[in-house]
Amino acid sequence: MQQMMGSHNYCHNHPKRAAFYKCENCGEYFCDKCILTSGDGRPVCRGCAVQLGWPNTRSGGLTAVGIIAIIFGSIGVLSIFFVLMSQKLVKNLSRGAEYETMQKLSEGPIAMFFLIFTACTWILLLCSGIGLLKLKRWAFGAVVTYCVLDVFQIAVNMIRTFSILDSIPPFMRGMIVGSLVGSAALGLALAVLFLVFITRPAIRTQLRA
Ligand SMILES: [Zn+2]
Ligand SMILES: [Zn+2]
Repeated sequence: MQQMMGSHNYCHNHPKRAAFYKCENCGEYFCDKCILTSGDGRPVCRGCAVQLGWPNTRSGGLTAVGIIAIIFGSIGVLSIFFVLMSQKLVKNLSRGAEYETMQKLSEGPIAMFFLIFTACTWILLLCSGIGLLKLKRWAFGAVVTYCVLDVFQIAVNMIRTFSILDSIPPFMRGMIVGSLVGSAALGLALAVLFLVFITRPAIRTQLRA
């Protein structure tokens, strides 16, 4: 591989990493993480390698995030089925305060719309993961859309639960607020991490987004 040792250039994708290679396709400078070698030893950056149709031009980071999106998306879709099943169980088993609380939270057109909305965001995350692994350009938009919908969903869920908090029996409030805050923190962390990752130049280059 043609190296340019001692170069004072920095990687086009990583402003802090020294660039030892010049892509023969686009002419930009890249670090060793961002450059691939053709069969005859020509250095080409990952973005150009994707455009040139080279196989296996996906970075380890993108693969990892794609798999994480698929895992979380699958768990989310499964959790929707779990919620639907637990609603049926609660209906059959108890008629006490727990039942009335569950009924307030899970029945009615708003709750149903919310459940379908949540299911759609999980399916979107699952599809985003598949798109990332296949280096599809639309995966970029899909991930950003998921993050926006995720934050919106967390906000609506918070408002909805706190608006009926007074009518929830005191012994259940701690559990309901605890699980709400826990899932909101996890959801927000996931959305922020996805956004920070997907907007990195090296990732956008690979997705051509
Ligand atoms: Zn290039
Ligand atoms: Zn680099």
